[in-house]
Amino acid sequence: MPDKGGLRTYRGKRDFDRTEEPRGQDGASGEGLRFVVQIHDASTTHFDFRLQVDDVLKSWSVPKGPSPDPQDKRLAVPTEDHPLEYEEFEGVIPEGEYGGGTVIVWDHGTYRPLSHDRRGRSMPFAEALERGHATFWLDGSKLHGGYALTRFRGGKGDGKDTTDEAWLLVKTDDERARPGDHGTSDPRRARSVRSGRTLRQVADGRR
Ligand code: MN
Repeated sequence: MPDKGGLRTYRGKRDFDRTEEPRGQDGASGEGLRFVVQIHDASTTHFDFRLQVDDVLKSWSVPKGPSPDPQDKRLAVPTEDHPLEYEEFEGVIPEGEYGGGTVIVWDHGTYRPLSHDRRGRSMPFAEALERGHATFWLDGSKLHGGYALTRFRGGKGDGKDTTDEAWLLVKTDDERARPGDHGTSDPRRARSVRSGRTLRQVADGRR
């Protein structure tokens, strides 16, 4: 089976008899480009920032989460592509399984690619990511306005192996910027945009 970058790595890490995370469909489609930011209370508590590109969610682990202050440069480490249905995932990944811990959907919505080439023509988002610099406009419940993802380490390989890559997620200085607001300082107090629940409440509510 050809590996189009798709979900093979994602599936290989998980036992879907044990975790309620979605297995994902190949070739899924939807209207509008989706983004989701989850808080994941695993071995470390971090944010997972995901943008729909074609039929997968391109994913970065962002330890401190997004900030609306353009001065804040937030480390974003690529992780494996996730299925589109992962946008809905909120729950508990069993202990001992890959990524074991609690997940809440902190924010979600749609985004618009903003990347242009030097002549001002719009650039396909996947190409912008391949080149290591992508700008986009988020319309979420919590996140709004322009953001940029910029690769500052790695990326010299074939574009499939992202294990040595490091990126920065930075708010663009636009009308939705909020200088002095550094985002969510305590992920444990943050609430799900889907259910209003905290990590603790989701963890306690498991079946
Ligand atoms: Mn994670």
